[in-house]
Amino acid sequence: MTRPKDFAPSLLKWYDANKRPLPWRKTKNPYRIWVSEVMLQQTQVSRGIEFYNRFLAKFPTLSSLAKASWRNVLPVWRGLGYYRRGENLLRTAKLLVSEYKGKFPQDKKSLQQLPGIGPYTAAAIVSFAFDQPEPAIDTNVKRVLGRFYGCPEVGVGPRAVSIFRKHKKQSAELNHALMDLGSALCTSRKALCEECPLSKGCDYYQSGKRDVWAAQSARKTKRKRSAAPSIVDVGCACIHREGKYLFAKRIAAKGGKWEFPGGKREKGESIRSCLKREIQEELGVEVSVRPPFLVEEFTEKNFTWRLHFCRCRILRGREQCREHEKLEWVTPDDFSNYPMPKENRRALSKL
Ligand code: SF4
Repeated sequence: MTRPKDFAPSLLKWYDANKRPLPWRKTKNPYRIWVSEVMLQQTQVSRGIEFYNRFLAKFPTLSSLAKASWRNVLPVWRGLGYYRRGENLLRTAKLLVSEYKGKFPQDKKSLQQLPGIGPYTAAAIVSFAFDQPEPAIDTNVKRVLGRFYGCPEVGVGPRAVSIFRKHKKQSAELNHALMDLGSALCTSRKALCEECPLSKGCDYYQSGKRDVWAAQSARKTKRKRSAAPSIVDVGCACIHREGKYLFAKRIAAKGGKWEFPGGKREKGESIRSCLKREIQEELGVEVSVRPPFLVEEFTEKNFTWRLHFCRCRILRGREQCREHEKLEWVTPDDFSNYPMPKENRRALSKL
């Protein structure tokens, strides 16, 4: 059995042979670690690496970032999404320089007073930069420990704390190892228990819960495949000003066509609040939103996309090109010079 005294040694041995060579793991510099943790929130690791390297090439130190304005940061953040993260990064850098003499606090509580630093990021910084025995509990870590101990994910905190207290000197490696195992073997979609160094003591595997879960998810997938396509609602903002409409050009990786800015409605959201949120994130402005003047549907693979086109006006702020290649204000006479997907073109004819 792997539990409990062999848990950490077995995990660390596996990590030693399977670790991901990520650039932020080669440093103890709290600034670099903090930048990586903020970037990786809601961003895949493979994508995060490119942005991390680009960001540090432009802002290699805390003081270089603290001297910058959002205008300087935006070009290197563009495309990463969730712009509030970047704005908080900048605010925190300025605070650290003006009020903390350019040094990171070394305790979780003080770190959490800073904009954009929550319990997970604070734990990651003190563990990776200052070698404190703190578990950085993200969804991967919750899942691994929850499955191993057979406890609900909310109950993994005390288990994690006791493992880290016993292995104080290996805090950073333990956190990295748990994250890597959770992303390589113990994922939310599958659990490759036969390859896992913890399988001998894992409740999820040994009690047969994994097989029950695998059978259930196979049934669910089958039902899903035979079910009617899922509907995805999308808000499209036709923002107008002085007889012109704001068009946004998608980046080349997304096809490079022009479109109306906007995005997917989240659970429980109205189209109006979806558009207010999306436009604030994409363009950094507050808009008023009229009820949809056109709703268009099309089906692709197993999804029906329902596009809600709404007239909007900018109430506050100046539009910034955060996620697109460029923005342009276009008069109706020039609409035909901007290639758009056909559903967007139908909206143009109504404007
Ligand atoms: S044995 Fe399976 S369920 Fe348990 S931790 Fe390993 S991969 Fe996850």
